[in-house]
Amino acid sequence: MSYAKVLGAGLVGVTGHVVEVEADLAPGLPAVVISGLPDTALHEARDRVRAAIVNSGEKWPNRRITLNLLPADLPKYGSAFDLAIATALLGGAGELPLLPLDRVVVLGELGLDGTVRPVRGVLPMVAAAVRAGLGRVIVPVDNAAEAAVIPGVRVRAVDTLHRLVGFVRDGTPLLEPSASGPTPPPDGPDLADVAGQGLGRRALEVTAAGGHHLALLGPPGAGKTMLAERLPSILPELDDDAALEVTALHSIAGVLPSDGRLLRHPPFQAPHHTATVPALVGGGAGLARPGAVSLAHRGVLFLDEAPEFSKGALEALRQPLEHGWIRLARTRGGTEYPARVQLVLAANPCPCAKPAGDTQCECSPLTRRRYLGRLSGPLLDRVDVQVTLLPVRAAELMATGGAHESSATVGARVAAARAAAAERWAPIGRRLNAEIPGPLLRRSPWRLPGHDTDELRARLDSGSLSARGFDRIIRLAWTVADLDGRDRPDREDVREAIALRTGEGA
Ligand SMILES: [Zn+2]
Repeated sequence: MSYAKVLGAGLVGVTGHVVEVEADLAPGLPAVVISGLPDTALHEARDRVRAAIVNSGEKWPNRRITLNLLPADLPKYGSAFDLAIATALLGGAGELPLLPLDRVVVLGELGLDGTVRPVRGVLPMVAAAVRAGLGRVIVPVDNAAEAAVIPGVRVRAVDTLHRLVGFVRDGTPLLEPSASGPTPPPDGPDLADVAGQGLGRRALEVTAAGGHHLALLGPPGAGKTMLAERLPSILPELDDDAALEVTALHSIAGVLPSDGRLLRHPPFQAPHHTATVPALVGGGAGLARPGAVSLAHRGVLFLDEAPEFSKGALEALRQPLEHGWIRLARTRGGTEYPARVQLVLAANPCPCAKPAGDTQCECSPLTRRRYLGRLSGPLLDRVDVQVTLLPVRAAELMATGGAHESSATVGARVAAARAAAAERWAPIGRRLNAEIPGPLLRRSPWRLPGHDTDELRARLDSGSLSARGFDRIIRLAWTVADLDGRDRPDREDVREAIALRTGEGA
């Protein structure tokens, strides 16, 4: 028998696919041919696999070897096929009886010395195995905990090719993943630490409840970063599907903690303003690495000192903010990663970043306008909540006496508001107020009575408010009403929404 087949897995975007690795050995001039749309890494696989087989004490078959990866039309990136290729090759050469690997998905990169190295994206690949009705996987020992996150699969791990060969040939036991405990409670920063900041706290709560984007403007020391970092702490935990998706993205990026748990808390990403476009939205050779906007999927993307980001970087965020996913150009086709985030922008009012009213700031009104203008086109237009924060005064700190609502308390109100919105919008297949198209809110039965919106319409007529801005304020008013337990926004809700949108005193 000079033919053998072993199952591996690959990725298209964030979705795993089971791949068949076939090896055919024929008499003739010794050579290795790989087909099935392999990329450069797969050609390198040939050299790695050869060295690993020889250095594991196995015989390299000196025949004409054809390796084929199926389905052929599936793009294949990365080094996760090494282990499947090596075993298929040894099986085809008659060196290994492959029956123990029947219906088992085998994943892992090989070192030249025959060690099995961890690979990116194990979690979605194992999920693909389960979807395909395959209940057993063999993964690199460093990926074992991650693989075991997927329910309904029996995970075994290997540290060397030698160990895998020993298992197949003699039944030597493989390694077992260590059990992981339940998800620990979030240990991020808590709103209880934030003193004063009535407007900022309210803006954060409204942002969380409606799924809106948020812009925090104000001088250094106004607590913009402190607030932004606490947005995840008042968002609901991720449900099963979202947790799997988020964990898969972190797996593909190779940044998953090694404790083998699903990521249950909404992620928080705060790329520095010097971040490159690939760091922000993803990229790189071979299996594309998700960028910050995808690592923040279902969570918060925080751009501190947002006007300092490069024009290209801000522009690159347009697509993910509009569509909830990012498409990365690849040599063959493209890769899409989910990127549905709540954006939080923080900006100083001017480039010199001196406190407001400080005599040292010599920025002209034009300079200030230009500075924030960098954000206006691509980003600020999508941001529903825009507030200007002032430095917290000592009096404000004393007045509240140090007792501030905790994230748990605020989070409970956010959850109730989200539940109300989800119930209201269920018939149109939406959940969050931020997702509701403006025209729908202007039509019956959602249209608000004239006497509640007269101030808004006056602003529209005078040109101080755009039609889009009008819709955003109505959307915010619904969130305010949801938070305060009203069926519909009233006049006061609209007024608060105007303040949250325009930054004019609440
Ligand atoms: Zn200045």
